[in-house]
Amino acid sequence: MIVAIDGTTGSGKSTISKNLAQKLNFAYIRTGSFYRAIALKILTENIDYSNIETINNMLTTTNIQNTFENGHVKLLLDGNDVSKQINSVEVSNFVSKIAQIPEIRAYVKNLQRASAKSCKNIVMEGRDIGSVIFPEAEVKIFIDCDIDVRALRRVYQYRKNDQIISFEDAKNAILQRDYDDINRKVSPLIRLPEAFYLDTANYTIDECVEILYKHTMSKNKK
Ligand code: C5P
Repeated sequence: MIVAIDGTTGSGKSTISKNLAQKLNFAYIRTGSFYRAIALKILTENIDYSNIETINNMLTTTNIQNTFENGHVKLLLDGNDVSKQINSVEVSNFVSKIAQIPEIRAYVKNLQRASAKSCKNIVMEGRDIGSVIFPEAEVKIFIDCDIDVRALRRVYQYRKNDQIISFEDAKNAILQRDYDDINRKVSPLIRLPEAFYLDTANYTIDECVEILYKHTMSKNKK
């Protein structure tokens, strides 16, 4: 069974999806981490991402591996554990720029499909999972949340990782990423009419997971 979860930036998608996967005992893939790993590589190696040939050369020598064990996600980029670095402010502010590049999207699409192949049951989360990657998914979910709530949560999330960001900067960065994701030409973020809609503003993480767990189980019985 495939559970396809899409939604806006900072809506709680990743935490909820990870906890849902654990509760269901399904595999879990946060596809944003693949885009983030590529963004990190471009930033660290100062790669000219406006040059398609350079991008293609980089992609042929890039190796990304994802593991999910005991509720922990690990991301290896060219053999190095970059699970922490991919969530930095720099990567977060940059990633949606490179997620618009068709060659990068095609590379990640292959990676997403290959990662899912070996799994019977999977929760896959991102921006285009229900629309482009797995339009045949049995369960489609769209997660959203009020922008001020998302910005405040982001400020606290960064603080936990010893990174400081103001409320206004957090809000603007989230709005910018949503704008980039919704308005890009290739596989933009859309709310599918058939997707189960969850607004996380008034619920705790556990309550959100419970709502989605019940929804998934109800589809599983059919
Ligand atoms: O979900 P997360 O915030 O980690 O995603 C980082 C970025 O990766 C998103 O803002 C988006 O630009 C891109 N992304 C995407 N398609 C996906 C997953 C992520 O374009 N399926």
